Amino acid sequence: MNTDKLSARLASVSNYVPKGARLADIGSDHAYLPCYLAKNEGLPFAIAGEVAKGPFQLAERNVLAEGLAGVISVRLGDGLEVIQPGEVDCITIAGMGGALIANILENGKDKLTSVKRLVLQPNISAISIRKWFIENNWELIDEEILEEDGKIYEILIGEKGDPNKPYKKNLDMGLLVGPFLLQKQDKTFKKKWTAEINNWQRIYEALEGASQSPETNEKKLEMIAKIKLVEEALKNENS
Ligand code: SAM
Repeated sequence: MNTDKLSARLASVSNYVPKGARLADIGSDHAYLPCYLAKNEGLPFAIAGEVAKGPFQLAERNVLAEGLAGVISVRLGDGLEVIQPGEVDCITIAGMGGALIANILENGKDKLTSVKRLVLQPNISAISIRKWFIENNWELIDEEILEEDGKIYEILIGEKGDPNKPYKKNLDMGLLVGPFLLQKQDKTFKKKWTAEINNWQRIYEALEGASQSPETNEKKLEMIAKIKLVEEALKNENS
């Protein structure tokens, strides 16, 4: 059963949930993450939030089957609306796009006053979350990148603080690739961004072969700028 052994991706997310935290796992689906933490790490209280009925029922079934109904409250609702003010001090949101995660945070700002830590795992567009952090006074305090089953995932951890602190010389670069990941330069980071560069190069070449217009020119310039920025990032310049 997956509540005893999480996927590498969810296990990494779980590592950033502070011991003893009161957790809300939003978009919990099967509720594996809160079940695992309650069973193995002594998590005292969690909300498993789900907007879709099927996953909500699955979460309810798993929580009941594990005998965790006294610890995990499974709630049906959109984003942070399932949380009462002051109920939790840590929120995890994993396995969705970064823009959707930022949107959930934006729409539920009033629920964040008691929250000390956000642990977010976007499947794509981590930049949307880094931008939201800057705009909302959350400080990115760490990042992780990992590969599982051929897919690369990033995990972003935020706490209230100085949102500009992690970014040194080049804000655009930091926002795109992640300031901590830029410093760490591990092999998964290099793999992700080398693949992105190759992809942008293919787009550029396709645009070269297409009939030229102001739009194609603009897109080509955008591809060149992105390629240059990420090539610099891989050399860890301007960090
Ligand atoms: N968090 C789990 C994980 O990482 O394995 C499940 C990820 S699953 C791909 C995404 C889940 O988020 C789906 O079950 C979906 O119904 C839920 N979801 C999407 N938008 C949501 C929202 N606004 N509020 C709550 N849940 C949402």
